[in-house]
Amino acid sequence: MTGTSAAIELRNLRFSYRTGPEVLHIPELVVPAGRKVFLHGPSGSGKTTLLGIVAGVLLPTASDATRVLGRDLVAMSPGARDAFRGEQLGYLFQLFNLLPWLSVLDNVTLPVDLHPARRARLAGVPPATVARELLERLDLGDFIHTPVTDLSVGQQQRVAAARALIGRPALLIADEPTSALDADRRATFIELLFAECEAAGATLLFVSHDLSLGRVFDERLSLPELNAVGVA
Ligand code: ADP
Ligand code: MG
Repeated sequence: MTGTSAAIELRNLRFSYRTGPEVLHIPELVVPAGRKVFLHGPSGSGKTTLLGIVAGVLLPTASDATRVLGRDLVAMSPGARDAFRGEQLGYLFQLFNLLPWLSVLDNVTLPVDLHPARRARLAGVPPATVARELLERLDLGDFIHTPVTDLSVGQQQRVAAARALIGRPALLIADEPTSALDADRRATFIELLFAECEAAGATLLFVSHDLSLGRVFDERLSLPELNAVGVA
């Protein structure tokens, strides 16, 4: 069987939003498990759309394979896709999606509070303890009980990172996660992502339009090169 060790396997995948032209036609994208991949492309080239498909939030219009961590996302029920995402994926959003009515700590523990299988990976350590450790490593130890609305944009982005990382997801997806960070924090942030991914044996799919960040990754992919839309 092909692709059993691939974290992501997309073949002949097409996607259009309900209105508008075709956004993606990906003949092939295979990401081996454990790899740290940097995906770049200009604004509007379909990066966020592709991440939505990999996360099972958007379904392809057509495809020969849409496999993530060995699962066929198209064949799964919506409920199974939601459960799979919650248990196995860490998603670091471009716009953070933090919950303003929760403290920093409660935002970070949310994924393991919601998904028992993800909580099980904490091996009995209380979620608050794990969350505190992550927050301290992200230099947010003094803000654990702060409402997230009182944080700077860069701090909020690091809280979102801790939330994506808790419970060691098998696949971490990050959509322009460093855009609000200054250069020093950017390096620390990427180091933490790498350390967490290595500790968990996780695959990292990291999207940015800033090519200078790509050097430290195992592999750099260009979305315009992967995408056959617009190619005659
Ligand atoms: P990127 O993340 O690389 O900036 P996107 O995936 O957000 O690119 O967008 C790719 C294309 O899809 C753009 O032309 C954008 O206008 C279009 N698009 C994005 N989201 C939607 C949507 N919800 N409905 C219709 N078109 C969309
Ligand atoms: Mg985007």
